[in-house]
Amino acid sequence: MAAQKVIVIGGGIGGLTAALALLKRGIDVELYEQASELREVGAGIQISSNGTRVLYALGLEAALAAIQVKPVRRVLRHWQTGETWNWFELGDVSIERYGTPHLMLHRGDLHAALTDAVRRAKKDAIHLGKRCVAVEDSGDAVGVRFDDGTSATGACLIGADGIHSGVRRLLFGLDRPVFTGCVAWRGLIPLEQLPAHLQRLVGTNWLGPHGMVLHYPIRRGELMNFISVVERDDWQIESWVIAGTTSELANDFKGWHGDVQTLIEAIATPYKWALMVRPPMERWSRGRVTLLGDACHPTLPFLGQGAVMAIEDGYVIAGCLEKYFADPERAFERYEDLRRERTSTVVKKAHENRVMAFEPRLAEENAVAEAIALDWQQIRVKERLDWIYSYDATAVVI
Ligand SMILES: Cc1cc2nc3c(=O)[nH]c(=O)nc-3n(C[C@H](O)[C@H](O)[C@H](O)COP(=O)(O)OP(=O)(O)OC[C@H]3O[C@@H](n4cnc5c(N)ncnc54)[C@H](O)[C@@H]3O)c2cc1C
Repeated sequence: MAAQKVIVIGGGIGGLTAALALLKRGIDVELYEQASELREVGAGIQISSNGTRVLYALGLEAALAAIQVKPVRRVLRHWQTGETWNWFELGDVSIERYGTPHLMLHRGDLHAALTDAVRRAKKDAIHLGKRCVAVEDSGDAVGVRFDDGTSATGACLIGADGIHSGVRRLLFGLDRPVFTGCVAWRGLIPLEQLPAHLQRLVGTNWLGPHGMVLHYPIRRGELMNFISVVERDDWQIESWVIAGTTSELANDFKGWHGDVQTLIEAIATPYKWALMVRPPMERWSRGRVTLLGDACHPTLPFLGQGAVMAIEDGYVIAGCLEKYFADPERAFERYEDLRRERTSTVVKKAHENRVMAFEPRLAEENAVAEAIALDWQQIRVKERLDWIYSYDATAVVI
């Protein structure tokens, strides 16, 4: 019966995880995605142990093993001299400490693994070319209309439609993003095009006074993912798919070490987007409709947790709906109680990390050792990351 189904709007990492977690609990799902084919942008993604714990619980361990890089460690490098410090260990250390690994993946590969798993659980669960334009909560069911004139009905609805969420707008009105003063760049490089010393299976953070560069290997070590952030106020479009030019990117990192220049030169098409922040939402749900992932708690990328939070949300919301299926309002109230504090702390800490990510002391030769020792040494890293990585969404008591 239509009214026994959960409707998910959005087939990103969050929506697919929620759909899979619901299907695994025997709850029927229809997922509607606006794109006419399922794909993700060509970029990397890090899934820390708190995310892999959920993906493993959903049966994805073997699928991930075929596409992953399990990096040995993260290292820090000085923007100008190239001096290198070991930052923190990953690989087997992550497994010993947290039980599951920290993985580096191509977003498209992760997306495909989730899509396959959803389709294995229910062949026709995913509907493409369906842009949601209206949602109506009648009190005992939810109706949704799409831009092709079709409609659907379910018992409740999850808006997993990302940072520019239309479901959020329908429920709570327009949001007010504020520009951070930072522009990010992304790009991919075939690993074999890089010199041998840049091909290592480690994540590298280049620290600089007014910018940062991060690169890590993905897709079994076939590609290097490049991300950088720079203080700049002349680009304020928040889109993942607008291309910039190599010379513009190189200009943003003028004076940086030769290895950074080598990486930049090797990127076929660099993409740029403005980083925005939004004040935390007081509520995510209204009646039989709720939000998940970037739709309700978009975060800056400085902790690498946006998608991981969406994955955790997806698992927890499925547990809440299993327990309170007859009363979705109660299910969503419990879901918010379980998820709001954690996700808003991640958003807040990622914002604080944005301040730390740029290290003005690195402009002064004498202050480098102190800056690294004070803010980047092991103990501080543990303080900063343990509470995130050790969280177990699969053990949350609903
Ligand atoms: C530079 C950068 C690096 C990042 N790195 C990491 C990282 O290493 N680790 C990490 O965990 N996170 C990272 N993130 C964050 C992560 O990308 C997001 O948090 C994550 O993709 C959110 O997933 P989502 O499913 O909520 O939304 P999305 O992935 O945006 O998916 C939303 C889906 O909804 C669909 N949709 C939208 N509107 C409609 C509609 N009206 N009808 C139907 N469908 C619709 C869209 O087409 C899309 O498929 C990074 C982000 C940035 C910017």
